[in-house]
Amino acid sequence: MNASSHSSCLVVLSGGQDSTTCLFWAKARYGKVHAVTFNYGQSHAVELESARRVAALCGVASHEVVDVGRILRSTSPLLDESASLAQYDDFESMDRAIGKRIESTFVPMRNAFFLTLAANIAVSLDCRTLVTGVDEEDNANYPDCRESFIRAQELTINEAMGMRDFRIETPLIHFSKADTVRLAQRLPGCMEAMAWTHTCYAGSFPPCGRCHACVLRRHGFDEAGVPDPLELRAAGKPFPHAR
Ligand SMILES: [Zn+2]
Repeated sequence: MNASSHSSCLVVLSGGQDSTTCLFWAKARYGKVHAVTFNYGQSHAVELESARRVAALCGVASHEVVDVGRILRSTSPLLDESASLAQYDDFESMDRAIGKRIESTFVPMRNAFFLTLAANIAVSLDCRTLVTGVDEEDNANYPDCRESFIRAQELTINEAMGMRDFRIETPLIHFSKADTVRLAQRLPGCMEAMAWTHTCYAGSFPPCGRCHACVLRRHGFDEAGVPDPLELRAAGKPFPHAR
């Protein structure tokens, strides 16, 4: 491996709050930051435009939107337009309703698939590090957002390529959403980019405010005591701008 491999990374960027925070986290740590976004036929495909804008605001070395088509099969409302998207009144009632069940938006094998493709792309870019915004504390109980899965996937990638030093970084894995907001505030340019992220599973702008992703995002900003730049922009109010 040459020296540049250590100072570059590839961020898996969905265009949402968490992956955008990871992108700016990576920018503060790595000399060269690449980003990759997957178009998998998600119903909230508007997030692809967010990913493009956020990547441009961050000034990444490269950003690729990889179109994998509708290869993933799932009953998740993110892929099955006939499935209804659960709505919640607030964080507390959502937390009670979901409990320990896996939320219906889960797409089986999605993260394993994306991380496998991302590892292939990373190596072609001379990167030995992937950064992903998975978070165990997301109240959705997605198995592929847990640290145990990430470590297993990291081992699989190393075994698959005969490597020992390929790493998957997960800066948010044990963060609450409020912790993620506080981190974003400390990262130069991140709150400006946050105004252009997309989180809503319903794919709407302004955000629907009632899907799992919207409720969780709002709870995090409320708990951190910070206005959400996306909501400010949606309401036509002044929001943080990149200079
Ligand atoms: Zn929503």
